[in-house]
Amino acid sequence: MKGKTHIGMGLITYLSIYNILPGKFNFMGLLLVAFASILPDVDHPKSIVNKYILPFKNKFTKVIFYGCIGITFIWYDYLYTDAPIMKAIGISFIIIAVSSHRNGLTHSFTGMIMFSFIVGYLGNMYNIHYLVYYFMVGYGMHLLCDMFTNRGVPLFYPVENKKFKFPLTYRTNSKVGSAIEELLMICGILFTIYRLPVIFYK
Ligand SMILES: [Zn+2]
Repeated sequence: MKGKTHIGMGLITYLSIYNILPGKFNFMGLLLVAFASILPDVDHPKSIVNKYILPFKNKFTKVIFYGCIGITFIWYDYLYTDAPIMKAIGISFIIIAVSSHRNGLTHSFTGMIMFSFIVGYLGNMYNIHYLVYYFMVGYGMHLLCDMFTNRGVPLFYPVENKKFKFPLTYRTNSKVGSAIEELLMICGILFTIYRLPVIFYK
């Protein structure tokens, strides 16, 4: 599934359910949902996240780049801080470095929990306790949406490698797949236009 479709689906979900979330509606939430919606695809060197981060869009650069950041965090933690959050951030970068697309941790519950722990921790640090809910909406929707594509997602990785998908799926980058995603985006834009006045003039 394309990055922009993921962002779209994350935002639609957010706009549909923000009333039951602890932080309700705010723009930080909107940004965080959008970011979390594309984060799982950081395991792909050509994904929308890596487009802006990686100097060269290939697998080798991805492994070296994220691997070095991860090792730096863990090394720094070992020398100076000895804090769980530094370890978690370091390990997360290493996970990103070694995960191959759709086969590893970033597309699993384990990955979701790890990243949520970091976001939750940062949220508590700055007294914005509800941040983690926004993050989970975006991240969770990404995994759910990927289950509609024929490759499925390894939800319980590394416990088991089985890929989970819905009975009805489509191929990403196929004609039908692109048409479905375009249609979803149009519905999403219409829904957003319909929803915005309710948000701004409540
Ligand atoms: Zn994905």
